[in-house]
Amino acid sequence: MAEQEIDLCKLIEQYGSEDRCRKYLEELRWPAGVRCVKCSNEKISRIHQRNQFHCESCNHQFSVTAGTIFHDTHLPLWKWFLCTYLLCESRKGMSANQLKRTLGISYKTAWYLCHRIRKAMAEAHGHKLKGTVEFDDEMHMGGKRQRGRGGKYHDKRPVIGIRERGGHLHFIRSSEVNQQVVDDIIARNVDKTVDVIMTDESRLYNIKLTRFRGKHQPMNHSADEYVRQEDGQCVTTTAGKSALSLFKRGIVGTWHRVSVKHLPAYLNEMTWRFNNRKNPFLFRDTIKRMLNADNLEFTELKHRRMNASPSTQGSH
Ligand SMILES: [Zn+2]
Repeated sequence: MAEQEIDLCKLIEQYGSEDRCRKYLEELRWPAGVRCVKCSNEKISRIHQRNQFHCESCNHQFSVTAGTIFHDTHLPLWKWFLCTYLLCESRKGMSANQLKRTLGISYKTAWYLCHRIRKAMAEAHGHKLKGTVEFDDEMHMGGKRQRGRGGKYHDKRPVIGIRERGGHLHFIRSSEVNQQVVDDIIARNVDKTVDVIMTDESRLYNIKLTRFRGKHQPMNHSADEYVRQEDGQCVTTTAGKSALSLFKRGIVGTWHRVSVKHLPAYLNEMTWRFNNRKNPFLFRDTIKRMLNADNLEFTELKHRRMNASPSTQGSH
């Protein structure tokens, strides 16, 4: 079952009940059979009435959701599954308001659910981009709106997009953009075997001073030179730009306003979906991550939310 591609009908057919969801989580969590979460012992008995396991060795009792993001929730598992599926499948993401209507849950529950799922979507650090890598430092996101109608946003944060052509996308939020920051980002995100690094002609990119010298290809945006031919190779920064513009549409169209505080969570969601665009098992892999991600306490989230400015509330 775990290796099957999923669509909405299959989802409802196969995971439309609490028992089936539990069974699936069990398969994903312990593919070689249930083990005690405390002592890893394999001798386990089931307590069917309570949906729990009992460890014959240390007497610990636990459920399949113990210690996971699904734990201590009053929401049925099949609603978790449905919400996860919707977040995986909608290209631009879904707002808590939309999920509230679709799933028939409260706004608070929808908001909390989205943030827990987003947390699990965070990509493992250390992945490096290869081949043709394109840089974009022109995006500013988040921030608060000044009072009054038509007030401008201030405190926006730069978000740098880096894209491996035909491959992964990384978004990096930064408090500022200067040469040091750019050099650090390149060092952390670009593999040493990279063929070419494409950027605009900004003076921020002094790549000849780094170990990537000789691999830099600046582009002249002011002259509308988005695409040109060189040595038979097409030189362009538009691949990076299209991923960024998709992200911008996601923010504007779905989430309306994103506070600086929550920006990394939305970047995680967007990047996870984009980088898995060809993965037929995206739903399964997201659920797997949710089983492994730390439980995000509601109090922690609520605290973050209460500290957000009034203009950013109600739109996540
Ligand atoms: Zn045990």
